[in-house]
Amino acid sequence: MSQPRQILVTSALPYANGAIHLGHLLEYLQTDIWVRFQKMRGHECHYVCADDTHGTPIMLRAEKEGITPEQLIARVQGEHQRDFAGFHIEFDNYHSTNAEENRQLACEVYRRLCAQGLIEARSIEQYYDPAKAMFLPDRFIKGECPKCHAKDQYGDNCEACGASYAPTDLIDPYSAISGAAPVRKESVHYFFKLSDSRCQAFLRQWTRGELSAIPPLQTEAANKMDEWLSGDLSDWDISRDAPYFGFEIPDAPGKYFYVWLDAPIGYMGSFKNLCDRTGLDFDAFWRADAEPELYHFIGKDILYFHALFWPAMLQYAGLRTPTQVFAHGFLTVNGEKMSKSRGTFITAESYLQQGLNPEWLRYYYACKLNGSMEDADLNLEDFVLRVNSDLVGKYINIASRTAGFISKRFEGRILGVECYSPAENHLQDTLLAQSAVIADHYESRDYSKAMREVMHLADLVNEYVAAQAPWTLAKDPVNDQQLHRVCSASLRWFAVLTLYLKPVLPQLAQRVESELFGLTQGLLWQDVAHLPLTKIHPYQHLLTRVDPKQIEALVEANRQDLQPAAAQPHSQVRHSQHQQHAGVVTASLLQEETPYLSIDDFNKVDLRIAKIVDAEHVEGADKLLRLTLDVGEAQTRNVFAGIKSAYPPGQLVGRLTVMVANLAPRQMKFGLSEGMVLAASDPDGKSPGLFLLSPDAGAQPGMKVK
Ligand SMILES: [Zn+2]
Repeated sequence: MSQPRQILVTSALPYANGAIHLGHLLEYLQTDIWVRFQKMRGHECHYVCADDTHGTPIMLRAEKEGITPEQLIARVQGEHQRDFAGFHIEFDNYHSTNAEENRQLACEVYRRLCAQGLIEARSIEQYYDPAKAMFLPDRFIKGECPKCHAKDQYGDNCEACGASYAPTDLIDPYSAISGAAPVRKESVHYFFKLSDSRCQAFLRQWTRGELSAIPPLQTEAANKMDEWLSGDLSDWDISRDAPYFGFEIPDAPGKYFYVWLDAPIGYMGSFKNLCDRTGLDFDAFWRADAEPELYHFIGKDILYFHALFWPAMLQYAGLRTPTQVFAHGFLTVNGEKMSKSRGTFITAESYLQQGLNPEWLRYYYACKLNGSMEDADLNLEDFVLRVNSDLVGKYINIASRTAGFISKRFEGRILGVECYSPAENHLQDTLLAQSAVIADHYESRDYSKAMREVMHLADLVNEYVAAQAPWTLAKDPVNDQQLHRVCSASLRWFAVLTLYLKPVLPQLAQRVESELFGLTQGLLWQDVAHLPLTKIHPYQHLLTRVDPKQIEALVEANRQDLQPAAAQPHSQVRHSQHQQHAGVVTASLLQEETPYLSIDDFNKVDLRIAKIVDAEHVEGADKLLRLTLDVGEAQTRNVFAGIKSAYPPGQLVGRLTVMVANLAPRQMKFGLSEGMVLAASDPDGKSPGLFLLSPDAGAQPGMKVK
């Protein structure tokens, strides 16, 4: 093999405002498979990512939850990393854009762009929410569509007729945050001058691949860029006014970098963090003449940022530009956009919680990905069929039909290739000859072709096993030698197929290597011609079939009623103190002879806003957390809540919730419980989880809820 390549790889940074779902996973799995392949080839490959943490949505959501943005992004990052790990996505570094490395790099890039004369301050007029005292991003202004007159449309486009427009075109606009009528107000903004002739000339050349040996964009992406570059580029507004959660711009108090400025710089920030931990040379990867390769995996929806703004920023900050940007299409489920009401907006967490094997999805996505910008479809019926017929029926089947004979009859010894018959030598050659072909498919991200090749080879091996029929040979000891040879060859070929599938099925491959073949070191791509196999351990079950019922349960668990929460028939508010109290609020009060209760009955329940000032595990209690609540009284309250399964204690501290304040105190094994907090859950248990109630921003501890 020639010199190992030095490769830096990124996936787009997930926004710290929501859960990872199967649409996101398409990209992270595409990238992870590619990175694992490069590492198996012996290259030096670094895969970095981070949570994208800045901007108005984060700020407002934290406010709504009664926590700081830092608390929100720490919690969400924990959830993201848990989900990625659950799907065996292995980053070399996972960081946050709200980090010191990123602040310094963002400021440095900005200063260099200033020095190039590419930053300009200009006063612009924008909508301002006088009640909330903040400028409103387009998505936070609503009003009547100027075209079709649909009410309550967003400031950038109409969901009823699809028209796009400026927020100033809306009829009777109002702030989606406070409801107030916005006013127009002037403010100074900073612009990156993409309209500068240097930038435009550079981007035309760069996107067309005139500046590099390999074109940096896929043909379809380059064509898209040509469209955008056919007119003049507008300058890019890179600043936002306080209040804003982000990095303050140097020498511009009250002005912050727009989240999209520091997000791609977050790739560098995460890599810097890795370098500082491991001694890698950061500049060697990022200086203008850097030799290592740099690849960004992204969705086609953010091509604009990665193929225009980002290379221009890098170029004029005196840094290297990406080797290639790999854009992929969107995920559809059953041929349609993912939908909450159809239950196809499936979160990574729910997939794992339903007990589905993450490698099933890795394999299915690999079968669907072809390196283009086409959308990929997750057809749930096809998913079941494909996993069961390919992975279990073809691939695993080879080992499960032959390994038992080796263990029982030949003390686990595998014969070497020197004893093969001519036909076996021929099949062996066929399998090895595909190594380069399959590697090329991985390299060009055409995993669907790689999977087709591997399954074709699995078919050939299965035909061989069927023709040799080891189960028949085993009936007569006179055939022992042949039986030993047939099963040895089959298992060697199973190992070859495992190696070819290893970027896609890392955990399964690792089990085959260590548990079945007893290898202490993971196999590399080049090992395929000389697999160091001499014995096996008794065969352990490697992979189960998908049960279609599991898929039904998954869809059901993700089906959401799109009614407002209060009207959801399947969601009821119940307390979550402990099992013994279950139903105090709902059952005993509601199950009177009449289905109604009087307002006087309701008023007996003293509901108060409570601030969770402390939360901790309770020794010896499986379900309980001990909460210390501030209810606006002189002393805090102690409450045991059965929410341990849903919330790590650290996530709760500082947030507001609702408590029943006049519940008779109850002596429990662990101490006195002085009330209960309220949480929502599905009474049928179909959608698992507990959801603690939160008041809107502004509520104070002790306020009465009625
Ligand atoms: Zn409209």
